[in-house]
Formats: sequence, structure tokens, C-alpha cells
Amino acid sequence: MNVKTMGRAAAVLVAGLAGAATAATANGPVCNTAATVSSTTYYACSGSSHTALDIGGVACGEPFYAPLVGSYYYKLYGGCAATCTGNTCNGGAGNYYVVTGTSGWDFRMLHLITDAYSASKTCNGCRLGQVGGTGSATSAHVHLDNRQYGTRKSSWYVSAGTTCGSSAYCGNVIGYPTL
Ligand SMILES: [Zn+2]
Repeated sequence: MNVKTMGRAAAVLVAGLAGAATAATANGPVCNTAATVSSTTYYACSGSSHTALDIGGVACGEPFYAPLVGSYYYKLYGGCAATCTGNTCNGGAGNYYVVTGTSGWDFRMLHLITDAYSASKTCNGCRLGQVGGTGSATSAHVHLDNRQYGTRKSSWYVSAGTTCGSSAYCGNVIGYPTL
């Protein structure tokens, strides 16, 4: 294969990879060892269907960090007044971020309180806001989900062994979301 042919083959390979959903790595979003997973497939671990991770165990206002390992674009949907105990803002999502992947996949982070660090931005592990209770929340926590065409999936946290009571400290992997 000559150099010109190799270059074209590489371009085709890159184009193919760009269209395929891939597994990202998510660390805990709170740099406090008290942060724990309080809901997974069921609310509070035994209630109705939830199919996402709720992370609590820390005070309202605890700094929230971008959980994905590597550089990703976090789009902010804000506008909700700060609260630790819930409101009806943004259809129950409260202040939230979305990372959009391919093939209908996305990764969302809900119920945050926005602060001076909050904005749509591309970053790796940056501070994004605070653990809060905006939207449908009765106490301070963050809700992380990985959806395809709007349907929540469990495989991203199940594959990492994350369950109720798992640590959500920023030094620990909590899941492998598809994006
Ligand atoms: Zn939740």
C-alpha cells in the first residue's frame, strides 16, 4: 500500500468510527467520600422503576464535577431557582446537563444548583455546579441516566458493578455510558 492509499484507508476508518456509539467511562461526580448511590434500577433501591443512578449522602451545595473521563461537551439547561427540596422546573429535571452521543444516545445529569461554574462547555472533569434539589427531588441528590432515543438503560452501571450503597466518590468508576 502506498502512502496515498494508506491515507485514504485511514480516513475511511475514522469516518466509520465516528458513526458508532462507544463506551465512555463515568467517575463519581462528587469529590467527597461520603457520596453514595441511593437509587439504581428502583427508586431508593426497592421502589418503582427508576433505571438510573441517584447519588446522595452529601450536603446540598456540594460541588458537582463532570463525571465523564475525557473531554466532552456538557450542554446546560438552566433557569431553575436554587432549592434543596424540589420544584417543578424544567418538567421535573431541574437544572441539568446533557452530553449527546451518536445513534440516539445521551447522558444526563439532573437536579443541580447552578453557580459561577455553570455553563455549557467542553471539559474533562471540570466543576459544573452543585448537588441540589431542583426539579422533582425531595432531598439533595443528582440523577445520572444514559438513554437511547429517550429510553433509560441500566447496562452502563450494571456493567461497572455499581449498586445501592456503592461509592460515588470522584476517584471511583460508577459506569460505562454508551455515547
Ligand atoms: Zn433519579
